[in-house]
Amino acid sequence: MTDISIWWIRRDIRLQDNHALISAVENSDQLIPLFILEPQLMVDAAPKRRAFLLQALSDLDQQLQMLGTRLILRQGPARSAFEKLAGEFEICRAFAYEDYSPFSRQRDQAIAQILPLYLLRGITYHPPQEILKDDGNPYVVFTPYKNKWYSEPLPNPADCLPDPKVLPPLPSGITSQQLPDFVPAGDFPATADEAQARLESFIGGKIRHYQSRRNFLAQDGTSQLSPYLRFGLLSAREVITQAQMAYIQANSTAARSEIRTWMDELVWREFYTAILHHFPNVLEGPFRPDYKNIPWRDAPDDLLAWQNDETGYPIVDACMRQLKHTGWMHNRGRMIAASFLTKDLLTNWQAGEDWFMKNLVDGDPAANNGGWQWSAGTGTDTAPYFRIFNPVTQGLKFDPDGDYIVRWVPELQDLPPQYRHEPWKMSKEDAQGFGFTLGKQYPLPIVDHAFARQRTLAAYKSARGNP
Ligand SMILES: Cc1cc2nc3c(=O)[nH]c(=O)nc-3n(C[C@H](O)[C@H](O)[C@H](O)COP(=O)(O)OP(=O)(O)OC[C@H]3O[C@@H](n4cnc5c(N)ncnc54)[C@H](O)[C@@H]3O)c2cc1C
Repeated sequence: MTDISIWWIRRDIRLQDNHALISAVENSDQLIPLFILEPQLMVDAAPKRRAFLLQALSDLDQQLQMLGTRLILRQGPARSAFEKLAGEFEICRAFAYEDYSPFSRQRDQAIAQILPLYLLRGITYHPPQEILKDDGNPYVVFTPYKNKWYSEPLPNPADCLPDPKVLPPLPSGITSQQLPDFVPAGDFPATADEAQARLESFIGGKIRHYQSRRNFLAQDGTSQLSPYLRFGLLSAREVITQAQMAYIQANSTAARSEIRTWMDELVWREFYTAILHHFPNVLEGPFRPDYKNIPWRDAPDDLLAWQNDETGYPIVDACMRQLKHTGWMHNRGRMIAASFLTKDLLTNWQAGEDWFMKNLVDGDPAANNGGWQWSAGTGTDTAPYFRIFNPVTQGLKFDPDGDYIVRWVPELQDLPPQYRHEPWKMSKEDAQGFGFTLGKQYPLPIVDHAFARQRTLAAYKSARGNP
């Protein structure tokens, strides 16, 4: 009997360092490289994230064709796709990487009823089940999690699997559905070559200044690898290996510290994945039950102003425009925008979480939820609720000359730096001198920060008083 396996591609759209693929290759005479375009990926996803996914699949298909096979695409719920395939061919098993969202886990349980499904661990370097406290419980605070993470062995280049040079053929007669049309997401070309080039370029350069530059919005000091990690065009192990090699080769304590700070960010990614695995209900509400009664405002106009980059706070609006135009936002920007929505507008963080998922090219349920709960102060490991970002101070600190602001809000480019952050502080005469009319080219602030701060402190206090 011919032994047929499925390589079920989900968050591992790559050939290199792919354990699920290699396991499938080693165990089959015929191989179906399968991707299922489930409704969640097509209907609910941000257009730029969808385009990224489709381009990545198209690129993977080309790589597969060079190895004499091709991608088999099915649209619709995974269950129907598997039932249909299992009805058409005698499929022995499927291999995939384990995913941790409640949706994925339920889906995988259903598929395991149809055929043997082997789930391999690897969308993070250290699987959520393996970084635990000594008593076997999961960590809920980042720093001890991180210490444990680093105390475990780190990978070296020999651990990364090479690309397969030959692949088993497809079963004869198998058909694939057509990949839907897409317009490539311009800022993030979704190809294996681009992913490798970005990784190499970052490891060969910017990583050495990461700690010093990562917070400055105009400096582009971060890797911008998040969509590539999100969809697995790069494996977590490969990325961590490269960073670890750079760390070992660095010739000063200062350089090592810059690199270690970047690795810490990859550990945040693993931490939030672990949180989602162990506490799936974070997708439903606050991690900390004492914050489930925050009296959020129901202020649709304010939410709309935030979404439409019309808050009148230039740094916030610049961040929201970066998101709108590129599908990506700088991490400092995400924190500023999230703090503004939750603390200045006292709007439920879940509205922001939802908006980010509808727009981010790297939208990832675990990282996004973690970031929002951190910003709202409701999460695992949060700044205390009384630490409220002042959007103007944040702008002055992390975009001192307003360069990032005017990149995205060019209406303010003729103003000197101090007014780029607070245009409302200009006198009428000054404004006229710059050809600017207050509230005309750019809106006035929709809320006074000092007032909003007091309102939020009172609201959080009242929630803590009424557990
Ligand atoms: C409100 C909010 C929402 C967020 N939503 C997402 C999201 O949907 N998807 C996402 O990948 N990240 C999210 N982040 C985390 C972070 O902002 C992005 O990962 C980062 O900005 C991506 O840019 P980069 O690749 O240049 O990161 P770098 O600074 O170069 O970091 C390297 C990698 O580490 C990971 N990473 C970095 N910071 C974090 C973090 N705080 N939490 C988890 N992983 C991290 C990412 O995979 C990133 O690509 C969110 C943060 C906040 C505050």
